Amino acid sequence: MLNNDEILQLQYVEKLKTIIEEKEKALGRKMTCQVTTFGCQMNARDSEKLLGILKKAGFVETESDDADFVIYNTCTVRDNANQRLYGRLGALKPYKKKNPNMKIGLCGCMMQEPTVIEKIKNSYGFVDLIFGTHNVFCFAELLCRMYESDSRIIDIWEKTDKIVEALPIDRKYSFKSGINIMFGCNNFCTYCIVPYVRGRERSRNPEDIIAEIKGLVDDGVVEIMLLGQNVNSYGKNLEDPISFAELLRRIEKIEGLERIRFMTSHPKDLSDELIDVMASSKKICDHIHLPLQSGSSRILKKMNRCYDKEQYLALVERIRAKIPDISITTDILMAFPGETDEDVEETVDVIRKVKFDNAFTFIYSKRTGTPAASMPDQLDEGTMQRHFDVVLKEVQESARERLKRFEGRTVPVLFEEVNDHDPEYIDARMTSNTVVHVKAPSSCIGKIMNVKLTEFHGFYYTGEIV
Ligand code: SF4
Repeated sequence: MLNNDEILQLQYVEKLKTIIEEKEKALGRKMTCQVTTFGCQMNARDSEKLLGILKKAGFVETESDDADFVIYNTCTVRDNANQRLYGRLGALKPYKKKNPNMKIGLCGCMMQEPTVIEKIKNSYGFVDLIFGTHNVFCFAELLCRMYESDSRIIDIWEKTDKIVEALPIDRKYSFKSGINIMFGCNNFCTYCIVPYVRGRERSRNPEDIIAEIKGLVDDGVVEIMLLGQNVNSYGKNLEDPISFAELLRRIEKIEGLERIRFMTSHPKDLSDELIDVMASSKKICDHIHLPLQSGSSRILKKMNRCYDKEQYLALVERIRAKIPDISITTDILMAFPGETDEDVEETVDVIRKVKFDNAFTFIYSKRTGTPAASMPDQLDEGTMQRHFDVVLKEVQESARERLKRFEGRTVPVLFEEVNDHDPEYIDARMTSNTVVHVKAPSSCIGKIMNVKLTEFHGFYYTGEIV
């Protein structure tokens, strides 16, 4: 059942369609659009909504920056993301000079920062539309306002309790899809800007999530990725609270759905109930992304992660006791203020004990407005890089060791896309999230087939269909 906001925004999509038809008549050609996504899977999912609305209104998608409407969906998790955005934005100015019909939009996490809005107002006056993370669903309405007023629209919401999902979506893949199950985060890790730009946790009703998944399965989707900043705290704010594990039990029952993935988990909230549901499931993939951030209990305390080294290791042990072959991947943030060589050693120790299948390692980036930004003992760049290099080397060695275990096995893989380097190969993915390159026709894309893993290449396999 559509809620009032969904009804209203769908009316704006229709109105936008009329506006674009008028413009196309005047131009004598189709209007083009380009959507660029920075950052995480939550942003990628939002961009599918932006593109869905633009295409529904009549725009034709283009890769080129020289489009009639260009929108950047921004990320602000690290400072270099901001700098990259300003660089890309500056490069758009000449196109706008050449095409007076061109409009430029900005949205996403970076736009929730007041200092950023001031900078854009002062230095990038040619931007036409700016909105944030809380009113993505108003995109069609905002475009109508922009075109009708032919003036700049800035509409940033500080927060929202609204959840509006039933809007046009243009999925990147026909056979798999991300699904938002919740928004926001209440954890306030001291280095993280997300709670300030994505707001408090709001879970979607399980019925709405299940209905959306059934619609996707009818549409040919075989694999879903449940998305949330911290999926393990799903359901806490619902009128009738249910656990994340219970949500998974209900999703498991959906006919035609073959694979279930989820991210991101938080170690402090990962329950034994969830481990049991994963262990007995036929559809939940044997992969869990479990950010560690640091192996030092002292640093974890300063990060406000609410678990220590021993608790993380004990959790991994509980998971492996029930699902011995599970793939565990993680995020590690190095060079946090005050980090010592001993802290680095603690992190290396956890890596050696856990043996992650893969780890995304980052260097701490000061984010204005977070508690860590004003902490003493910020490290110098040389030390930051040295700490990072030590851990990166360790992670790569132990992941290579861990991934070898699959060699020679026959496993079901989902064929995803033509390999970038050799079109004769298709990139496929195991339930463990490990990539396999298989010589196969593109007609295999979207199918799950058994493949024998013939050769290991450090972080991926080659294999043949059996
Ligand atoms: S759990 Fe921590 S790191 Fe993750 S989004 Fe929330 S505050 Fe940021």
